[in-house]
Amino acid sequence: MTPGMDSQYDVIVIGGGNSGLCAALSAREHGGSVLLIEKAPREDRGGNTKYTGFFRFTYNGLADILPLAPDITEDERRRVELPPYSADMYYNDIMRITGGRADPELTTILVNSSRPALNWLAKWGLKSELLYDMVIRLGEKLYWEPGVCIRPKGGGKGLVDALFSIVEAEGVTIAYEVTARQLLCDNTGRISGVLVKTKDGLKEIAARKGVVLACGGFEASPEMRAKYLGAGWDIVKVRGTKYNTGEGITMALELGAKTSGEWTAPHATQVDAGAPEHDHGSETFRESYQNGILLNTNGDRFLDEGEDFSLYTYAKFGRIVLRQPNALAYQIYDQKVKSLLTSDYNIGTPPVVADTLEELAEGLGIDSTKLVKTVTDFNKAVQEGEFSPAKLDGKKTVGIEPPKSNWALRIDAPPFLAYPVTGGITFTFGGLAINGNAQVLDTTDNPIEGLYAVGETHGYYYHNYPGASGLMRGSVFGRIAGAHAMGHQVIN
Ligand SMILES: Cc1cc2nc3c(=O)[nH]c(=O)nc-3n(C[C@H](O)[C@H](O)[C@H](O)COP(=O)(O)OP(=O)(O)OC[C@H]3O[C@@H](n4cnc5c(N)ncnc54)[C@H](O)[C@@H]3O)c2cc1C
Repeated sequence: MTPGMDSQYDVIVIGGGNSGLCAALSAREHGGSVLLIEKAPREDRGGNTKYTGFFRFTYNGLADILPLAPDITEDERRRVELPPYSADMYYNDIMRITGGRADPELTTILVNSSRPALNWLAKWGLKSELLYDMVIRLGEKLYWEPGVCIRPKGGGKGLVDALFSIVEAEGVTIAYEVTARQLLCDNTGRISGVLVKTKDGLKEIAARKGVVLACGGFEASPEMRAKYLGAGWDIVKVRGTKYNTGEGITMALELGAKTSGEWTAPHATQVDAGAPEHDHGSETFRESYQNGILLNTNGDRFLDEGEDFSLYTYAKFGRIVLRQPNALAYQIYDQKVKSLLTSDYNIGTPPVVADTLEELAEGLGIDSTKLVKTVTDFNKAVQEGEFSPAKLDGKKTVGIEPPKSNWALRIDAPPFLAYPVTGGITFTFGGLAINGNAQVLDTTDNPIEGLYAVGETHGYYYHNYPGASGLMRGSVFGRIAGAHAMGHQVIN
């Protein structure tokens, strides 16, 4: 047996990302003996979670943030502008963004349990800080897009390290380089354990109360991407961990689990075209596009860069970039908005810089007449109005297709900057169906006893994704799964 690993536990959690760590903590809090198995070696632990930044949750104002982020200074308290983000706003954002397809019951649980789950983590010692990566500075005031304003100290890596320290201190057994291969069940159909692959070979480990699948989606499996997402998806860049290859989903499907979420549309964002094949995290993220325009290699615009706040468009725009010739596009900015680009733009492929649009076209290898016409037409279509990145400012174009619905500023202050981008897959929307207790459902809508799915193993999103709701969903349903496996309900 792998050192420290016994042959039976109350609860086995598969996967050491945010959702699995929350499930392990919750099961332990309710008195269970808990084993968390993680496929990656210790030095590569943390799944996609280690690349994350922030949670989406409800708040009425700064007073709700202070218990989570107690080190916010007096000066920051004076400068923060934080209009309420209510449960209704959160619920409506999810429903609007998913075309009304997200499960209403699960969405209500997610929304209502979001701040309580963060308070729960804070009680266990997780500290947060203001989210400067996403801040919008207007004068001395600090604003954020609705629903996001803090992050765990140290970001995703800080979150992973803090949660591992907490669960280890509470007595959860962690086994690295152990891969779940198959779910075991008794002759009633109840899940009774897991067959795992360790360095010493295959082992069966019994789970007396439950098994929690917290092992991500299938975004890192080229074979499953090609099968479910379609041609071309097998060769896209993977923003996150190479270990999320869909095994949790496959194991449960073999036992008759039901699916949910959209299987043919993943979360994909614009990333630096020169990003590595996987594990590039956030530094390659190119999310400031709402301040400029996007051109493909034909010199055409092809989407509404200002359709909505970036946290409501970024997860689908990567897919649209992937459909452009050579899966390539250029984000074009001028000097008026340069200061609005996130610090991630300083890392990776440097921009092509040019004093004139003709030179820019030459630097990008795009037909000059075409690029100049596209930008000139865009500039002519820009309407007067006040540009304000802190709100949907309605400063738009008229008379061109596609329009730019907000933040439309003329591209007229050289030197111009062009950053090459492609699409990178973040995670998959399709996964296992669960009920409000995080129990995996079978195809007759009955729970598979003893089996839970949380985080990205659970299929929930359709079409698009409201940024930062993924981590929150993992915490909320991880907490619920661990408690339910031990015969308890979470009280918020
Ligand atoms: C670059 C990037 C940035 C992101 N930023 C944010 C953000 O700011 N906010 C947000 O809400 N969401 C963000 N997300 C989405 C986000 O990652 C998640 O919603 C959340 O972290 C997923 O947690 P999880 O526990 O479901 O999966 P993960 O954190 O991916 O953990 C799954 C774990 O399971 C392990 N595993 C896989 N298969 C097996 C197996 N067979 N046996 C054992 N272990 C296995 C993996 O090694 C991995 O450690 C981001 C994603 C990426 C890639």
